[in-house]
Amino acid sequence: QYTGPSYQKTEHVKSEHLPPAVYNIYQRPLLLHQGRMQWLYDHEGKQYLDLFGGIVTVSVGHCHPKVVGALQDQINTLWHCTNIYRHPKIYEYVEQLVSKLPGDLKVVYLVNSGTEANDLATLLAKAYTGNLDVVSLQSSYHGYSSALMGLTATQSYRMKLPVPPGFYHTMLPDPYRGIWGGCRDSLSQVPGACACPGDCVTADKYVNQLNELLENSIPKGRLAALFAESIQGVNGTVQFPKGYLKKAHQLVKKYGGLYVADEVQTGFGRTGDAFWGFQNHGVLPDIVTMAKGIGNGFPMAAVVTTKEIAAAHAGTTYFNTFGGNPMAGAVGQAVLDVIEEEELQNNCKVTGKYFIEQLMQLQKIHPVIGDVRGKGLMLGFEFVVPGTKEPLAVTDVNAIHEDMKDMGVLIGRGGRWSNVMRIKPPMCINRQDVDFTVSVLDQAIKNYLRNKK
Ligand code: PMP
Repeated sequence: QYTGPSYQKTEHVKSEHLPPAVYNIYQRPLLLHQGRMQWLYDHEGKQYLDLFGGIVTVSVGHCHPKVVGALQDQINTLWHCTNIYRHPKIYEYVEQLVSKLPGDLKVVYLVNSGTEANDLATLLAKAYTGNLDVVSLQSSYHGYSSALMGLTATQSYRMKLPVPPGFYHTMLPDPYRGIWGGCRDSLSQVPGACACPGDCVTADKYVNQLNELLENSIPKGRLAALFAESIQGVNGTVQFPKGYLKKAHQLVKKYGGLYVADEVQTGFGRTGDAFWGFQNHGVLPDIVTMAKGIGNGFPMAAVVTTKEIAAAHAGTTYFNTFGGNPMAGAVGQAVLDVIEEEELQNNCKVTGKYFIEQLMQLQKIHPVIGDVRGKGLMLGFEFVVPGTKEPLAVTDVNAIHEDMKDMGVLIGRGGRWSNVMRIKPPMCINRQDVDFTVSVLDQAIKNYLRNKK
């Protein structure tokens, strides 16, 4: 039973006391008050299938009993910061987390958000290389802070202020909208979509463009790092041509920079074939940042790097009041356990494949769906003017999107024109949930087409 403020009251408080730029994706925003695994409930008790919880951090399921239990046990035992004292949970947790990472990625910094993780990664890369310039991909999102306003390249999140110095953006290798087209990496889920025998030829074109930037724009010997996700999330599930990340990494190394993999959205088994998104691309980063799914909704995040890079901190003190608190350790451990016990990575692979196949079937009936893409349970599709790549008008997309919500399915939005539907559910969804979604999407498109006449 909902006992909180009325919907009207929340409207009033929002307009009076919350910042005007708060992210909102519905005309009539939801007032949620309960969650259970892949399901959410609003103040009127209406149930929704949550296909966007993964972006808002829920990886193993809303209020997963094991995670809740671990947190409750810890809350009843000790809350304290751990930077000055030791606590068993953190020691157990970092060992468990590191066992999931390849190579020499052995040192964990526990922090509280993705923004903080990428900020620290920037600092580490600069301190280790002694260089100041950082490159990210066009339209990327890596966090919201004054320092990261330059790393984050997507325009809608950038205020009309000068970007801090030392950030450069390289061309986005987008196979659907990029100027050179191209195949998507690791397209095991989209049959026949990648015809290249080896790396995609367009990957070289985008890598050459990065080379131009490193050669001609960045003062020689000043490159600290390249930041990239393995599938761009906020910008609408953009996958890169096969071979791009591997070659970009090699190039960056040649110029003395580090490669930072932002796994905030793609980590923890979400892409199905691998625990980390970068593993699908055959690259080994120097630094990995992670957040969101790491805590299934609990505010925690991490930066993992090598001992050599972490040594850049030697001689100074690293302090973070809440980073690595005992509750984060307990939650982090429970999340890793659940992913393993419930075989959620495999579920991402199997259910994700089924999902993308069903979406592609629907695309054949509805040409308003212009592109279907993604991997595991990180999927996306674009609404376009049929027969073209022109993004469907935002008001039209809003209508379909709102209708889906009214029929009980919550789905994400993204991309430059907000015409990409993003699917990042809790990793426990099943085939029935996919069937339900596809029938709701089908109905919402039919309703839209009928109303449009
Ligand atoms: N990196 C990526 C790829 C993200 O998607 C986000 C959040 N959308 C962040 C970093 C920042 O995370 P946070 O909101 O926890 O600061």
